[in-house]
Amino acid sequence: MMLAMREADKARAVGEVPCGCVIVKEGAVIATGWNQVETLGDATAHAEMLALRAAENAVGDWRLEGCTVYVTKEPCPMCAGALVHCRPDRVVFGIPDPKGGACGGWIDLLDSNPPLNHKCEHLGGVLADACLQQFQSFFREARAAARQRKLEARAGAARNSSEQLCEPDSSSHDTAS
Ligand SMILES: [Zn+2]
Repeated sequence: MMLAMREADKARAVGEVPCGCVIVKEGAVIATGWNQVETLGDATAHAEMLALRAAENAVGDWRLEGCTVYVTKEPCPMCAGALVHCRPDRVVFGIPDPKGGACGGWIDLLDSNPPLNHKCEHLGGVLADACLQQFQSFFREARAAARQRKLEARAGAARNSSEQLCEPDSSSHDTAS
C-alpha cells in the first residue's frame, strides 16, 4: 500500500486526484498505475485501469490469477467491473467509499456478480488514515488555490475598473492644461 501511495503522489504532483495502484504477483510488483484522467483527457484513466492494462502486458494474459491489487481508495464501479473481468485473487484498498465504492461501500461487484463468474477476495481500510490524509490534503490545497485564483481575478477586475475610471480624469486634466 505504501507503494500505491507513492503512485498516488505522482498523480498529485501533476494536479490529478491522488489515487495510486500497484499489482503484485508472487511477491513481485508487476504493474503500477496512477490516476491520469486530466493528463490523458480520458475519464477511464483511473489508477486501477492503467495498472490492470500494465499487468496484462507484463503477464502476457488478461487473466491476472495469482495477483493482488493494492489501491489507495475503494474502486469505483468501472474499475471493480474491470477487476472482476481480469480475475486477480485479491483486492486490497485504503479509503472505503460508502457513496461510490463498488467493493462493498456502495455496492459489491467483487462478491456478488453471478454473470461474471469470478469472486475477488477483498479487504478495505488498509492504511486508510494515511491514504485519506493524502486525499484530503490534495483537496484542501486545490480549494485554497481556487480561492486564490478567485481573489486574484477580483483584484484584477478592480484594478481594470479603477484604471478605466482614471483615464477620463487624466485626459480632461491634459486638455485643461
Ligand atoms: Zn475507478
